[in-house]
Amino acid sequence: MEYAENILGTIGNTPMVKINKIIGDIPALVLAKYETFNPGNSVKDRMAVKMIADAEADGRLKPGGTIIEGTSGNTGMGLALAAIVKGYKMVCVISDKQSKEKVDILKAVGSKVIVCPTNVAPEDPRSYYSTSKRLAEETPNSWYVNQYDNPSNAAAHYESTGPEIWKQTDGKVTHFVVGVGTGGTISGVGKYLKEQNPNVKIWGIDTYGSVFKKYHETGIFDENEIYPYITEGIGEDILPKNVDFSVIDGFVKVTDKDAAIYTQKLAKIEGFFLGNSAGAAIKGLLQLKDNFTKDDVVVVLFHDHGSRYVGKMYNDEWMRERGFVEDVAKNASDLIKE
Ligand code: PMP
Repeated sequence: MEYAENILGTIGNTPMVKINKIIGDIPALVLAKYETFNPGNSVKDRMAVKMIADAEADGRLKPGGTIIEGTSGNTGMGLALAAIVKGYKMVCVISDKQSKEKVDILKAVGSKVIVCPTNVAPEDPRSYYSTSKRLAEETPNSWYVNQYDNPSNAAAHYESTGPEIWKQTDGKVTHFVVGVGTGGTISGVGKYLKEQNPNVKIWGIDTYGSVFKKYHETGIFDENEIYPYITEGIGEDILPKNVDFSVIDGFVKVTDKDAAIYTQKLAKIEGFFLGNSAGAAIKGLLQLKDNFTKDDVVVVLFHDHGSRYVGKMYNDEWMRERGFVEDVAKNASDLIKE
C-alpha cells in the first residue's frame, strides 16, 4: 500500500513543467517549478511545516498552543493545515488588500482571521506586523511565527525546494527566477543551487512600490521606493532577515498591470491556472530574455493557485476598473507574438 500518514506527508516533490508558448522566441529550455501541487496549493506549505517542526523542537511551540502569524494567505494556509494535524489553534493576521478568497479559504481550514489596513507604516499599531506581535504578547501559550525573520523559512527551501530543482534538472539548471516577498524561497533555493554550481544565476522578481531592487543595487533603503501596489505576495516595505542578498544576482521590477495581464496569459496560453505572483514572475523572465541562450535551463517557480484570484485578475470587471483589460482581449496568437 502507498499512502501518506496525514496531509502533511504530501508536501513537496512537486512537478516541473515545460513552458512552451508564452516564452516566445527565448531559445532556452524554460521550466516551471509548479508549487500549486502542494496540499495548501502553494509553496508556502514547505516552510510552514518546517517552521512549526523547528519551534516544537526547541520549545517555542508547546502542546495545545496558539500559532499567530501575519500572512498574505498562503503561509497561513500551510500553517493552518499543520495546526489541524498537530492540534494547535491558528490565528492569521492579514492585510485588507488580500483577496477575499484568501480570507475565506483560511476560515475554511479553521483559522481565525483578523484583517488590518494595508496603507499604514509597519510600525503603526494598526499594521499587520504590529497587530500580530501584540496578539502574540497578549495570548497565553502562543507562538508568533514571524516568517519574515524566521530562519526556518529559507532553511525549508534549502532542504527541499532547492534539491528538488537540482535533481529534476539533472544539475543542468543555469538560471532561477522567482518572486520575492519574505525572501525565503529565493534565499534557500539560491543558496543550495549556488553551492552545487556557483555559476547558476539567481534573479528576484520585485514590484514597483517595493524596496528590494534599489537596496540590492545601492545598499540604500530608500523610503521613496515605498508606495501602495496591487500585486500580491511579492515586494516589501521592510528588509526581512530571510532575504539573503548575497545569493541574488539581480532584481527585475514588474508593474501591477503586467503582473495581472500575464497571470491571465499563463492560464489562457499554457493552461497554468496560477496566482498573481506567477504572472509577475513570467513577465520578469521575459524582461530578462536577452540573458538566456539556447543551452540554458531556466527554472521559474510559481508560488500559488489561481483559485485565490478569481475575483481579481481572473475577473474582467476588476481588470477593466483598473485599466488592465485591453491587452487581455486580444486573441492568443497575438499575445504569443509579443
Ligand atoms: N508569491 C506568493 C503568492 C506568495 O504568497 C509569496 C509569499 N509572500 C511569494 C510569492 C514570495 O515568496 P517568499 O516569501 O518565499 O519570498
